Amino acid sequence: MAGNTFFKDVNKCFDRAATYLSIEKGLLSQIKACDSTYHVTFPLVRDDGSVEVIHGWRSAHSSHKSPTKGGIRYADNVNEDEVNALAALMTYKCAVVSIPFGGAKGGIRINGKNYSDGELERITRRFTFELIKRNFIGPGIDVPAPDYGTSSREMAWILDTYRSMVNTLDSEGCVTGKPIAQGGVSGRTEATGRGVYFGLREVCRVKKEMDRLGLTTGLAGKRVIVQGLGNVGYYAALFLQEDDAIITGVAEMHGGIYDEKGIDVKKLREYIVETGSIKGYPEGRFVEDSKSMLEWECDILIPAALEDQITTENAPKIKAKILGEAANGPVLEDADAILRKMDILVIPDIFINAGGVTVSYFEWIKNLSHIRFGRMDRRYEENAMSRLLQAIEGLTGARFSENDIARLGKGPEEWDLVDSGLEDTMVMAYERLRETRDQYKTDLRTAAYISAIEKVALSYQQLGIFP
Ligand code: GLU
Repeated sequence: MAGNTFFKDVNKCFDRAATYLSIEKGLLSQIKACDSTYHVTFPLVRDDGSVEVIHGWRSAHSSHKSPTKGGIRYADNVNEDEVNALAALMTYKCAVVSIPFGGAKGGIRINGKNYSDGELERITRRFTFELIKRNFIGPGIDVPAPDYGTSSREMAWILDTYRSMVNTLDSEGCVTGKPIAQGGVSGRTEATGRGVYFGLREVCRVKKEMDRLGLTTGLAGKRVIVQGLGNVGYYAALFLQEDDAIITGVAEMHGGIYDEKGIDVKKLREYIVETGSIKGYPEGRFVEDSKSMLEWECDILIPAALEDQITTENAPKIKAKILGEAANGPVLEDADAILRKMDILVIPDIFINAGGVTVSYFEWIKNLSHIRFGRMDRRYEENAMSRLLQAIEGLTGARFSENDIARLGKGPEEWDLVDSGLEDTMVMAYERLRETRDQYKTDLRTAAYISAIEKVALSYQQLGIFP
């Protein structure tokens, strides 16, 4: 685990990037600092009647924009330094993909597997209550979302608690990643993984880059190892597989599966959900020491679990050509320094896993505007397209088949619009990232920080406080 150095590590990346810019020192310190951190403890009466003290944190790293935004994780290693570091990553991530939020993060120090559903609900509601009491949550203040160990279920509890205490017109926007019937948006569940897919697709599209790594362009045939088949890792693997990449390895906490021919990730995930473990999966080869799989031969390595997975110890042994940081902070500074000297293209977390917060932004907008995307214009677009097709038929004498009419004339559903917004965000951000990297002759992570610092600095400068 990252111990208490995670935030320092994030700041080391920041400092390295800042040397490329001429921004006043005071302003740089302001950007780096975590604006506020709230540590709360409260008692949980467990199902057996015993009482346990629960620790939770919420950090708002930067309020250069409101609201602040970031997930809430449930894990037994959560601590203040981690939450601060993750909140800082959120600030930079939002800036890299031009999402107008400050960064935040929350965490509760529990292993969700050790608690009943009822206990988890009580913990979530009490934590939300504490945040409301301190004015640490609200559609214009700070908006949580799912993260490691949480899902739409916890977000629904957060909304329900918030709404029962603060019932304003915009209450639904107090949290994102909600179930659809509770104000969620289509595509949010798979968004982070889908963003990882779009990002890697763009990476593999650039011939010059692929030539340098000795790879062909395109995802087809690329061998991929994924660490963590949770929400992010699963959807990233699924979409990569649908685009003909071969998922050769999946590493879970208590073992992995390796299959040179390719793993059916959907089937494997179903097996894990059903049995609670990857052990005993009938296909491929079981790997006891799953962490070692990070060092195995592949084209793309995707750590999609927790921070500090690639260390000074295993970094020199990495054989992947491309490393896509689907998790937050899987490679910390010392290990990154090693990778920078190797022939590996590292795609930084603050770009490649930004799909989640991007679609959270769409969800928040949907909540504030109180209308489903596509509701006003879908039929209008269908009618316009139908008139266009009729006009073409009239002019050319050609006849469109039923199939063509159905395909060409279909207006966008909410999912189509969300997906196109996500795709555009990832494609444009990668293009700008490469430009920045080439302009400053540096690596992609430093370029991402450079671009984030520039944007946040500009926002502070326009407040007129800093030179
Ligand atoms: N937990 C996700 C992340 O680390 C999503 C945050 C959000 O949607 O606010 O990026």
